[in-house]
Amino acid sequence: MLFSRIIGHAALKAKLIGNIREGRVPHAQFFLGPRGSGTLPLALAYARYLLCQQPGAADSCGACPSCAMLDKLAHPDLHLVFPIFLSEKSKTCEPFLADWRELVGKEPYLDAERWREKLEGENKQLRMGVDIAAEITRKLSLKAYQGGWKVMLIWLPELMDTAAANKLLKVLEEPEPMTAFLLVGHANDQILPTILSRTQLVKVPALNPGEVVEALQLRYPDLGAEEARAIAARSEGDLLEAAAMADKSEEELFVFFRDWLRACYANKVPDTVEFGEYFAKMGRERQKGLMLYALYLIRQCLLHGQQVPQLVRAFGEEMDFVKKFSALLNERNTEGIRRELETAHGHLERNANPKVLFLDLSYRMGGWLRMKEAVA
Ligand SMILES: [Zn+2]
Repeated sequence: MLFSRIIGHAALKAKLIGNIREGRVPHAQFFLGPRGSGTLPLALAYARYLLCQQPGAADSCGACPSCAMLDKLAHPDLHLVFPIFLSEKSKTCEPFLADWRELVGKEPYLDAERWREKLEGENKQLRMGVDIAAEITRKLSLKAYQGGWKVMLIWLPELMDTAAANKLLKVLEEPEPMTAFLLVGHANDQILPTILSRTQLVKVPALNPGEVVEALQLRYPDLGAEEARAIAARSEGDLLEAAAMADKSEEELFVFFRDWLRACYANKVPDTVEFGEYFAKMGRERQKGLMLYALYLIRQCLLHGQQVPQLVRAFGEEMDFVKKFSALLNERNTEGIRRELETAHGHLERNANPKVLFLDLSYRMGGWLRMKEAVA
């Protein structure tokens, strides 16, 4: 994770980098902030900057061998520790490292819920026990691979058992040179005060609505500006929550679009009337969003049809749809379908009656979809 990829927190990022550049690296820091604020990405960017072989004034270089290893969160001097479901068989993080890396690679704003889902144990408790504390000591006893900093990132230290926390305290009490502890969590009131007193607090505030909008637009290029603002307002600065809302919204659009298109193709008029009524209630921004989304999916279908699957950006059910639907597209109808959707989008922008527009669109779409390739 590069600092430049993290939304918001400009002053904090500058301060963290400035401290490193001036040689002020605390032995232990606690990145504390609410869910979805970016505590973990910030700590990872900090670790990367420490380990980068050619750090610039504002960020890691992103190109050195160290950065390349950190792209995969697999740098021998970055040690990762996190809570797991403790059992007779599972006592240390090591066996779960690949899973954790994979998940953080996908969602660096990770929270405990998602980690629990990944480990598939909804009703179990995530904990860190004494064996994990011993793992910390063991990992830190290794010589630095690069000969520079060793970074120990402890995710969610609030989930440490008392015995484990006491063991960690011992390590923190005897700081080794060139070793940086990065604790990353949400709740400092659940951590031993003695541990807290040995860490420097890095307070990470919740994102402001403008920053959430910025992050959403990067992640969901097809999400309308209005909808992004509405989601941001409801997310209370929690990017993870905002992303979940955007996911749900995209899924709803997909299901609506797929089922509507099927009805158009099959020429089921009563069904298309029903879809039209639903569409009319969607609200202007969402209606426009559906047209943009439809255009996006059509583009994906075209890419698939043109045998460039590596460019197709669709997942799960969406991908199934793309595969099937691309068979219906041909030279005669593709341009027509695209034009219909663009025109509908334009009319919606000019406040056309959505119900009338949608019924008309359904009728025309059906015609285009049933149009076969010209026989040579
Ligand atoms: Zn680098």
